[in-house]
Amino acid sequence: MKTIGLIGGMSWESTTLYYQLINREVALRLGGLSSARLNLVSLDFQDIAQRQRAGDWAGMSAILRQAARRLQDTGAQCLLIGTNTMHKLAPEVQADVNVPLIHIADVTADAILAQGLDTVGLMGTRFTMEEAFYVDRLRERGLRCVLPDEAQRTEIHRIIFEELCQGEVSESSRAWLSGCITDLKSRGAQGVVLGCTELPLIVGPQDSCLPTFDTTALHAMAAVDFALAV
Ligand code: GLU
Repeated sequence: MKTIGLIGGMSWESTTLYYQLINREVALRLGGLSSARLNLVSLDFQDIAQRQRAGDWAGMSAILRQAARRLQDTGAQCLLIGTNTMHKLAPEVQADVNVPLIHIADVTADAILAQGLDTVGLMGTRFTMEEAFYVDRLRERGLRCVLPDEAQRTEIHRIIFEELCQGEVSESSRAWLSGCITDLKSRGAQGVVLGCTELPLIVGPQDSCLPTFDTTALHAMAAVDFALAV
């Protein structure tokens, strides 16, 4: 089994999901007491979120590249960045290490295409919804994104940072997010990308009128596939 390197803590609420998903899948596939070989560098999200707000992407790049090198130096054979947003920096992180970085948007695109869809709603942080790094990565695979409108993007971003990343899962936000997915469907989305690693904490298939693409689970499964490939 190969060793997975995970840059986590963004937020730790979703890093716990990664840890559970990866270990459960390894146990399922290998049986017995099997668990993943996994190295984790867990960052302080207060610092990262402040830098996101300030637009200090150079500072965050230095932090992520240092974490990636540390993981590589301690034996990680692949790399995960456990957040969609921070994949804005994926190309520069990949350029700094020799081990493959498994890109969250690529594994998500694979899952969407496997279902034969070409148009998906995208929910995530403002950075993920509004900047090019994510939408373009999906577009390169022939996929079109339907984005929530400005007011909806503001509210999704608020729910992520003020609730989910702080461990709060509220029924009113769940209902609101469900309504938002219904709206994305009416605007042509055939499925919805839960493009924030905390969103699966609040939205499941039962809350959605569209097929959901849980980026946390898809990313975690891709890491297990890598680790167990012969
Ligand atoms: N985990 C979230 C994501 O997948 C948001 C946290 C962050 O801004 O990195 O985008």
